Amino acid sequence: MRCPFCGYPNTRVQDSRSIENGSVIRRRRECPSCGAKFTTYERFEGGRFMVIKKDGRREKFQREKLMNGIVKACEKRPISMEKIEEMVNSLESKARKLGTEIPTNSIGELVMKELRKLDKIAYIRFASVYREFRDTEQFIKEIGKLEEENDR
Ligand SMILES: [Zn+2]
Repeated sequence: MRCPFCGYPNTRVQDSRSIENGSVIRRRRECPSCGAKFTTYERFEGGRFMVIKKDGRREKFQREKLMNGIVKACEKRPISMEKIEEMVNSLESKARKLGTEIPTNSIGELVMKELRKLDKIAYIRFASVYREFRDTEQFIKEIGKLEEENDR
């Protein structure tokens, strides 16, 4: 594979590992020319699937969009890009299992379930954007629910 940084045609594979129960292969590569290190993922290309928005419009599923939303929620939290990348991978395969047309709220629910396990602050941030908390009361209620969970 060509180095994305300097264009050298032959980067070396340092490490190759299967993740997510063998459905994805992760390779760490290094460029012998410029020394850049980067990661590639090999996964089943499951064809396109569509997302159905709230107003009924359909849109091609965009991995980048999902990724951006999660990165934003995780900003300044102790969560590595690698962890986020893994989460997006697993979310995508979970979403694919639901069919070829998936309502945006099903994807949103999947994301929230994962974020809740990972980081409460990131979860609240994502939920507040996603659920469009209309007032502070709703927001406080959601935080209250999390605190109850922690007490258990
Ligand atoms: Zn290079």
